[in-house]
Amino acid sequence: MIQLGLTGYPVRHSLSPKIHAAALKACGLDGDYSLFPIAPDDKQELEELLSRVRSGRLTGLNVTIPHKQNVIEFMDDLTPAARAIGAVNIVYLRGNRLVGDNTDAPGFLSDLNKFIGHQKLGMGKSALVLGAGGSARAVVYALMDDGWKVTIAARRIEQAGELVLQFGKVDAVELNFQTLQSSIVPLIVNTTPVGMAPNMDQSPWPENLPFPNASVYDLIYHPSETKLVRNARAQGLKATTGLGMLVEQAALGFELWTGCQLPVDIFRKAVE
Ligand code: NAP
Repeated sequence: MIQLGLTGYPVRHSLSPKIHAAALKACGLDGDYSLFPIAPDDKQELEELLSRVRSGRLTGLNVTIPHKQNVIEFMDDLTPAARAIGAVNIVYLRGNRLVGDNTDAPGFLSDLNKFIGHQKLGMGKSALVLGAGGSARAVVYALMDDGWKVTIAARRIEQAGELVLQFGKVDAVELNFQTLQSSIVPLIVNTTPVGMAPNMDQSPWPENLPFPNASVYDLIYHPSETKLVRNARAQGLKATTGLGMLVEQAALGFELWTGCQLPVDIFRKAVE
């Protein structure tokens, strides 16, 4: 019996149980996916939950906010991606060792490449990343790994500065009207929660500022069309929300836990 789950706080609105239930069914596996809400400062409970993976009572765990960093101290090994990003979103056992991995970065990159397709990037691979929080770290790592030149725009420049220290060859600017106005890039990636439900009338891109000739990737997946994506499309640009990234990282995680590789469409249909 495959026992999977998600820990974080809160977790009740997560789409992961639906996604993984569909995957278990498609692979013909007996199992379930449970939610384990653990309060932000409850390290004891977190350690107890992780010990269930160590002992094999749980096959694997997804980890979300606020525990993506908190679980690191309990891991035997971190994958290079998890170490570089400084966050774990998936835990599994390899041999007798508890491994912390990160599938947000490859999940994002895989969906980005599908989104961009064979489109010619006139100005080369340069990207503007809005926000400098947890998901920005995975996005910046993925983009750099794929040869993109990255500029991070954050409302607190010191937060973007932390990513410059961590990743090296990236630029940091303040997220404001002037810097957005002067930025000419073929890819804009939003990693801020601005525009996420229930604040669907908001956008991190100012209403009265035209976009440069760029493709727009918004990590938010609820709603299915954010204001940022709607406005970019209205200007004739290619734009997408982050459901594809969610689905790709879930598919990667499911394969790591069960060895069962499924077409991504199975995961996507479960949430659409
Ligand atoms: P996070 O760690 O809290 O980081 C959010 C970043 O956005 C921070 O830099 C924050 O700055 C900035 N920010 C917040 N409100 C802002 C505002 N009003 N104006 C400008 N900047 C603002 O959050 P996260 O984990 O990165 O998640 C961000 C979003 O990505 C969420 O909507 C989440 O659902 C989505 N996400 C999607 C996927 C996917 O699979 N598609 C995966 C991960 C995350 P401050 O620190 O100054 O607040």
